[in-house]
Amino acid sequence: MICHECNSEMKESQETYHYLESGLDNIYLEDICVYRCKCGEFFPSVPGIIDLHTMIGQMIIKKSTALNGKEIIFLRKNIGLNARTFAEYVGIDKSTFSRWENGQQKLAKPNDRLIRLIYANVKGLPKNDIEHLLKEAVKDFNGSESEERISIPKSSFSSQQRDERV
Ligand SMILES: [Zn+2]
Repeated sequence: MICHECNSEMKESQETYHYLESGLDNIYLEDICVYRCKCGEFFPSVPGIIDLHTMIGQMIIKKSTALNGKEIIFLRKNIGLNARTFAEYVGIDKSTFSRWENGQQKLAKPNDRLIRLIYANVKGLPKNDIEHLLKEAVKDFNGSESEERISIPKSSFSSQQRDERV
């Protein structure tokens, strides 16, 4: 693999990759092939991105603590909606919705739950998942803000799919 920046040969290694491309701070992918160049350029080869993002979305809507702005953005993008449309679905004005997304304003618990339900509905999740969501999600709404590290093994999302570039 040749580096785009400096035309040197890049080195390939298996790594636990901090998946910042997701837009989230706490996602780590295990056993990912990463190409690195001595100039600092790198790129990860992440297989099965669609399945991976669906998996991350489901983890987010099942968490017991409040959604943060980055998670709202992730959920919205994962169902292919722009901010204006999502704000309309929630029934909130666009500027408030933007403040939720950029973390300037906290959202109330019912809005948090509504965002998860809109995601689950647009995503067509099974009834069981939605019931679980209604019972368990947002239980610990005032829980710690700090997000736990989430490690995802490559095998859990990449079965029989060719590698794609992020
Ligand atoms: Zn380079």
